[in-house]
Amino acid sequence: MVLIVILERKFPYKKGIPILRKGFWTDLIWYTLIQSYLLKILIFDYIIHPLDNYYHVSFQLLDSIPLWEQVIFFLVIHDFYIYWFHRWQHSSKILWRTHEAHHSNKEIDWLAGSRSHSIEIIINQTIEFLPIVLLGANPWVVPLKALIDAVWGMYIHSNINVKSGKLQYIINGPEMHQWHHADDKNVFHANFSTKFAIWDWLFGTGYLPKHKPEKFGLYYEYPRDYFLQHIFSFRPFKEIKFSKFWFSDPLINLRPWIMKIWIKIKKIFSIENEHLKSYLNLIVIYFKRNRSA
Ligand SMILES: [Zn+2]
Ligand SMILES: [Zn+2]
Repeated sequence: MVLIVILERKFPYKKGIPILRKGFWTDLIWYTLIQSYLLKILIFDYIIHPLDNYYHVSFQLLDSIPLWEQVIFFLVIHDFYIYWFHRWQHSSKILWRTHEAHHSNKEIDWLAGSRSHSIEIIINQTIEFLPIVLLGANPWVVPLKALIDAVWGMYIHSNINVKSGKLQYIINGPEMHQWHHADDKNVFHANFSTKFAIWDWLFGTGYLPKHKPEKFGLYYEYPRDYFLQHIFSFRPFKEIKFSKFWFSDPLINLRPWIMKIWIKIKKIFSIENEHLKSYLNLIVIYFKRNRSA
């Protein structure tokens, strides 16, 4: 942490961001210390360990694998998952509400990444750590992975002007993740990777121009207080002016695909809407009769 802060001062990506930027204390006290501590208890003591008591499977195969190979294995698998879940969060209105907090900082530095809605953390960390515990991995995998998560999270959000060249095609860093936090149409569906940038390049969402973004954060008003930020996620959609553009990822949004296939099926079997209606009616009548009998 100290090293990253020193590097941010010496080689800033964006000049003029103070150490105590807007939202610094909210991110440090509420998100990093209090929320993390409480969610750790909730996730491990109330979700993972009780589930482990019922469904524990100890793979002997896993026992024979050295600790570091286990860590790398879970690191890659989880990073692949988080790429797709993150991408989905950017194209589903409901999931976006669990992620908007993470994008709400207007100045991005090492601490900005800690701002994540508790629902997002509960989903992601349960999915991250549950398999490790259930499969009976080495007990050191959880703390080591948590440590790597924390350091890597600080690094990709840091305000350091990193130029890692070709390495940015594999290892993710601030070059691409600072862009992901920009208030810019080009990146709302880009740079979803966390640790390995390779996912973005493989699945067509990599964005790394030569220039830097101008604005960061959300394009709509967002509260500054921790509790208001939490409540904000439950505010009705109509009260927030979402741009349709933000939910148009064709790969993740399956609805248009399902509709297209459905129209084709209807054509092939020459199904009319009227047929469907009368068929549904028959089912309803059948169930009503059964119930009264
Ligand atoms: Zn995002
Ligand atoms: Zn981020």
